[in-house]
Amino acid sequence: MTGTAKKGGRRRIVWRRVLPILIVPLLIVLTIKKLPDAFHHRKSIDDVTVAELSAKEVRALRRYNNEYHLEVSRANGIERPFKNHEQMLADKYGNIVKYGLREVHDCKYYEVPALTYSMPYLKKEAVDFLDELGRRFFKTLKDLDVQDYRFQLSSVLRTEADQIGLRKNNVNATQSKTSHYFGLSFDIAQTCFYPKGQDEPIYSYRLRNLLLRTLIEMQDEGRCYVILETQTKCIHITVR
Ligand SMILES: [Zn+2]
Repeated sequence: MTGTAKKGGRRRIVWRRVLPILIVPLLIVLTIKKLPDAFHHRKSIDDVTVAELSAKEVRALRRYNNEYHLEVSRANGIERPFKNHEQMLADKYGNIVKYGLREVHDCKYYEVPALTYSMPYLKKEAVDFLDELGRRFFKTLKDLDVQDYRFQLSSVLRTEADQIGLRKNNVNATQSKTSHYFGLSFDIAQTCFYPKGQDEPIYSYRLRNLLLRTLIEMQDEGRCYVILETQTKCIHITVR
């Protein structure tokens, strides 16, 4: 017994001496590795050249019309559209559980403004897709040595009342059949982006083109359908 205690005690003393010798150099190495990032200011998007969309890329953004979006979102999304916000919110948590919804908030990748004709909810698959899109977009920016810019969600889950309101206000000649009812579709503002740490957006076609390229890549992988909407200035996306 005494022997073991002594042994244990000796071991403790040894580790107390050895640990700082191991940890301190490790911390120094990690700090030195991180220092360049902390002091390096990446460029503004205005300081780099971004190619215009090619004819092939423009075609990719017209390949899948609204019918494709409706088909996939009806098959995999919320079975029956909500009538209005009140109906959804009357059993908010029940609906969240029943349909596998998540509330979407501002995060490091995107901004969710106060929404007029939609509610900030999506099915989990769509939220995961948004995170993946954000990760890839930020990597593209980092590879160009450009600072982070968050994109903006402009329309998310719509109720039937939202859709009627939109059409009355003639925002786009909005179609009566929308995939926004089903929790797998959302819109991203085309040119509105938030520089890191800022609440005021900037407007940039270069950022739009980089984001669209990331989306075309994900569409090619079979992850989504993308439409570049000309009238509403948004990008309509449905997750497959
Ligand atoms: Zn849309």
